[in-house]
This record gives sequence, structure tokens and C-alpha cells, in this order.
Amino acid sequence: MAMQNGYSNKTQLDVIVVGAGLVGSLEALYLAKRGHRVRLYEFREDIRKTPQARGRSINLALSVRGRRALKDVGLETHMIKEHGIPMTGRRIHRTDGSTYVIPYDANTKQSIYSVGRNYLNGLLLQESEQYGNVERYFNHKLIEANLKKGSLTFLKTDTNETVTVTADLIIGADGAFSAVRKAMMKQPFFDYSQKYIEHGYLELCIPPADNGGFLMPANYLHIWPRGEFMMIALPNQDCSWTVTLFMPFDKFKNLDTEEKLLAFFEKYFPDSIPLIGKKKLVEDFFAVKPSPLVAVKCRPYHVEDKALIIGDAAHAVVPFYGQGMNAGFEDCTLLDQLFQKHHDNLAEILKEFSETRWEDTFAISDLAMYNYIEMRDLVTRPSYKFRKAMDDFIFWLLPNFWVPLYNSVTFSTMPYSLCIKNREWQDRVLKKLLKIVGIGALIGGAVAFKIKYYS
Ligand SMILES: Cc1cc2nc3c(=O)[nH]c(=O)nc-3n(C[C@H](O)[C@H](O)[C@H](O)COP(=O)(O)OP(=O)(O)OC[C@H]3O[C@@H](n4cnc5c(N)ncnc54)[C@H](O)[C@@H]3O)c2cc1C
Repeated sequence: MAMQNGYSNKTQLDVIVVGAGLVGSLEALYLAKRGHRVRLYEFREDIRKTPQARGRSINLALSVRGRRALKDVGLETHMIKEHGIPMTGRRIHRTDGSTYVIPYDANTKQSIYSVGRNYLNGLLLQESEQYGNVERYFNHKLIEANLKKGSLTFLKTDTNETVTVTADLIIGADGAFSAVRKAMMKQPFFDYSQKYIEHGYLELCIPPADNGGFLMPANYLHIWPRGEFMMIALPNQDCSWTVTLFMPFDKFKNLDTEEKLLAFFEKYFPDSIPLIGKKKLVEDFFAVKPSPLVAVKCRPYHVEDKALIIGDAAHAVVPFYGQGMNAGFEDCTLLDQLFQKHHDNLAEILKEFSETRWEDTFAISDLAMYNYIEMRDLVTRPSYKFRKAMDDFIFWLLPNFWVPLYNSVTFSTMPYSLCIKNREWQDRVLKKLLKIVGIGALIGGAVAFKIKYYS
């Protein structure tokens, strides 16, 4: 029930956030700061009580969009200074074990940060304890929703009881397989598509060195690009590395014995074997099945003035741009700006969010699909290196005029769709430039030839 808010003169809304993952926990903080009453419902146990990894990646790359949101809720400095490990570029591993570095930002030296998923999630939840207007309900699984009525039914997984609650606004931040989104799909004109890519991922681990340090240079995202597949590694706080192998499922399936697995690693990732350790490699590889990767596009994101989906629930993307969480955090920032702009008028806020956000989330979804090809294959090609050198040079010359694609996505808050348009424009300019240079060189060559042989 909307009522006068004790924190300010605005209306205090009663909001239920479904899902206390990264995005839901952050959204609860944004809403709490605005003085609204927030009830956060989470299917699983409180992550602060079960800090071990829950499937999904153990660490994540945090970049500017995510940092900006964390700054808004007062947690950026802590995450970056106390917990984040800066990664200044891609460190590429060749099959002979030698490596070279491709900086993310050779000019302004910006970094992305490797952060622990569970640590960040726990930190966001812990911060919500500072607000008396946030209530947290763990072990509550959403099983039924009447979005137009603002009513939700949860199953308490520890007691098997059900509980039905209502609110002014329901925010579904319940991930790629969102139950809130499922309820939205019953609405007419709700467009939805999902794509499972044919590649899956499996996580391995490089432990810390005997002296407690890192076994590889720490401040990089390490990549072993092998054309059709790749392996990457991100550093952890305890000096271990989370290593992720991305590969077609049929390739995973073929590696069904210890001998085949080791022969495969000897051929493609020989330098990683002593780092991971043969025994641990075999154990970890066969301990779990590779996980699938899904991308979801849908719209609109809201139902009237009652319900909204954000984060992976609205736009799960494949992880190759390191933007899934960052984009979800950006949802929360944009939503907060709309609360401000429309003075808590939910009909206006939800409508504008839906109408303006989809183009950018579709764009990052497409960019993430493209970046897999860049990371596993293109990075090793001369054409990629040439283009990157050109981009870096012009960016150095004209930093406000020419921002390369990766920089605009990762180190700016330029809308994702504009990042793509910007890149298309740069492609056209470079094409013309190369044409002019080519014609100039041809004419110059012809003139020189004529002078030399005919005069
Ligand atoms: C391998 C991999 C690597 C990645 N790397 C990066 C990276 O480097 N950088 C980056 O920005 N992003 C990365 N991502 C993406 C990132 O993990 C997601 O975008 C992010 O976790 C989305 O957060 P979310 O809160 O929307 O969803 P989730 O993290 O999925 O959280 C949803 C929450 O809702 C709960 N829930 C689900 N159903 C219900 C229900 N019925 N009732 C109640 N609660 C429910 C879940 O238990 C969960 O806690 C990566 C993803 C993968 C798979």
C-alpha cells in the first residue's frame, strides 16, 4: 500500500524484489535509499551463510557500468580498493607456452576488475542490513504470480508452507530462468526469444603457488584462444585462478577418458597442465558436466504499473563481453534515474524503462555473441591486430572523437546500441581512409615509376 514516506516527502512504495542475486540485492539498496519499503525474496539460502560457489562463475569482470552503480550505493571504493584485482589487458597464451599482452586501454590505462561473485553478493546483502526499510526472506521460491494484482505466492522451501503477499510493485530479478518473466509471458504482445549456443563451459582451478602468491602474472585476463574454442583465467583474492574452458558440447563429449583429456591439454594448453596439476585437472574436469549458455531477449519489461523484470530475467546474455552483471547493474542505475525523473510515478517509470532499455540490451546481447569469436579466434589474426593498432592510434590522437568499441562498452556508459552505431561509423571512416591511402599510394607509385623510367 502506497503511503507517506518517513524518509522524505515522497510516497513510500511497497516493493517486492524477487531474487537476491547480484541485481536484486543491488536494486533493493537503490530502493531503500529512496525510502521505499523493500521485501527481498530469495529461493536459496542466505549466501552469507553458504559462501561456497553456487554453480555459475566464481569470479566476474566488473567494469565502469557496474562500478557506477556500486558508487551510487556507496560500495565502489571498497570493491575496487579492497577486493577487486585490476586486469589491464588480455594476456594471450600461444600453444608453445609463450605469451603476449593486448592492453585493454593503452592510452588511459583503465582496467577491468576481477571480483568474487559470492563476496559481492554477500556485501550487497550486508549493506541492506543498514536500512530498516529492507526485509529479507530466504528459502522462498516464487511459484505463482498474478502480476496485474501485484500478488505473489512463495513456497517456503524449509517448511513446505506457502505464503501469498501483495505489493505496489513487483521487480523480478530472478535470473535467466525467471519465474516473474514466465508470468509476464501470459500477457499479450510479450515478445520472447531464447538461444542456447552450441558451446558450454566448465570451470577448473589454478591453485596459489607454494609461497601463497600467483602462479601467473596477476593483472591480466589470461586467454588461450584456439579458434573454435578457448580457455580463460581470472585471478581470485586468494591468489588462485578460476579457469574456464568454453568449447562445443560435442568436443566436451569426446573427451571421455583421462588419456584423451590429457592428450587434448598437451596439444592445446600445455603450459596450463603444470599450473593446474595433472591430478586436479582430471578430477575437476570429470567432476561436473559442462554448463550451457543461454541468451534471452524479450520485451516489454513491464506489466502496467505493477511489475518489471531487470537483470538476467530481462536480458540474459552470453558471458563473452563480461557485461551481464554490469548491464544488470546499469538497469538499476537507469531505473533509479527514472524514479527521480517521474517522482515515483510507477506507470511512467515502468513504461519509459521498457521503451528505452530494450534496444541497448539487445545490442549487448549481439555484442557478447560477437566477442566470443573475437576472443577465441580473431585476437590471433593480423587483421585484428592491425585494426586494434589503428583504433588505439586514433584514440590516442583524438580521445574525445574516436573511442574504440571495447572501450565504449567497457569503460564508458555510452548506451550499448550507440556503441554499435559508433563502431559502424568508424568502420565506414576507416574504409574511406584506407581507400584514399590506397589510391594515393597507387598514384604516387605511378608518378614515381613514370619519373624514373620515362623522363
Ligand atoms: C560463466 C559466466 C561468466 C560470467 N562472467 C561475467 C563477467 O565477467 N562480468 C559480468 O558482468 N557478467 C558476467 N556473467 C553474467 C552474470 O553472472 C549475470 O549477468 C548476473 O549474475 C545476473 O544477475 P541477476 O541477479 O540478474 O541473476 P542471478 O545471478 O541469476 O540471480 C537470480 C537470483 O534469483 C533467485 N531466484 C531464481 N528463481 C527464483 C524464484 N522462483 N523465486 C525466488 N528466487 C529465485 C536465484 O536463486 C538467484 O539468487 C557471467 C555469467 C556466466 C554464466
